[in-house]
Amino acid sequence: RTPTGVPLRVDGLVKRFGGVTAVDGASFEVEQGSLTGLIGPNGAGKSTTFNCITGVHEPTAGNIYFKNEDITGLKPYQIARKGLVRTFQIARELEEMTVLENLMLAPKGQLGESAIRAVTPGLRGEVVTQEEEIRERAWETLDFFEIDHLATEHAGNLSGGQRKLLEMARALMTDPELVLLDEPLAGVNPTLEEKLLDRIHQLREDGYTFLLVEHDMDIIMNNCEHVIVMHQGSVLAEGTGDEIRNNEQVIEAYLGE
Ligand code: ADP
Ligand code: MG
Repeated sequence: RTPTGVPLRVDGLVKRFGGVTAVDGASFEVEQGSLTGLIGPNGAGKSTTFNCITGVHEPTAGNIYFKNEDITGLKPYQIARKGLVRTFQIARELEEMTVLENLMLAPKGQLGESAIRAVTPGLRGEVVTQEEEIRERAWETLDFFEIDHLATEHAGNLSGGQRKLLEMARALMTDPELVLLDEPLAGVNPTLEEKLLDRIHQLREDGYTFLLVEHDMDIIMNNCEHVIVMHQGSVLAEGTGDEIRNNEQVIEAYLGE
C-alpha cells in the first residue's frame, strides 16, 4: 500500500442544526497508517463530525480534505468511492439476506485493484468476472473476521457482536484507505470486543488507517496511539493516551457530563 501522508484533514468544521451548534470550529488531522481515536463526553459533537466527514451532513462551514483533495459537501457514495469508508448498521431489508450476500453487495466497480490482486494472485491477466472477484474477496473477508461459518445465515439472525463484525467486514470489502468507526464496540461482549480490536490492529499493520470514535475513554487510551478530545464542538486536547489521561481539562470535561 502506498503511503499518502495525512489522508484526513478537518479544518475549521462547523455544523449547526437550527439554533444548535453541534460542531464549532473543529480542526484535526489523521496520519497515514495511524489508529487515531476521537473521544469526548456525550454531546461533544463526535457523531456530527463523523457524519460531516462521511458526507451524511453538509458542513455549515469549514473544509474536509481527503488525501489533499477537498471533499467538503460530496455525497456519501462519492466519498466512499475515493477510499474513505464508514460502517453502517445492517438495514432492515438486508436482514433477510445472508451474510455472504451482504458482503457481496459492496458496490460493484468499487473494489480496489489492490484488493483484486490480493485475492486473485494467480489469475492476473486471466479473465475473471467481477462477480467472481467479489465472491472471492467476500470469502476472504469472512475468513479474516472469523464469520465464514455464518456465511449462509440471514444477517437478521446474528447476535449484536456478530453484526458489528459483519458491519466492519462490509466496510472492508472495498479495500478502503481510511476507515471511520463510530462506537464499533458498543454492546459487544468482551470476547468479541477483543477480536474486533485485534482485527483493527492487524489491518492497521497492513497499512489501513483508522479513525475510531468512542465515548469510552479506556478503549481509546488502550488502543490508539493518537487521541483527539472534543468538547462542546471543538478540539479540547490532542496527544498520546498518557498525555490525555493526565490532562486536567479533559478530566474536567468528562466529570461535567
Ligand atoms: P456526540 O456524538 O459527541 O455525543 P453529537 O454529535 O451526537 O455528539 O451531538 C452534538 C450536539 O448536537 C448535541 O447537543 C446534539 O443534541 C446536537 N445534535 C446532533 N444531531 C442533531 C440534529 N440532527 N438536530 C439537532 N441537534 C443535533
Ligand atoms: Mg455520538
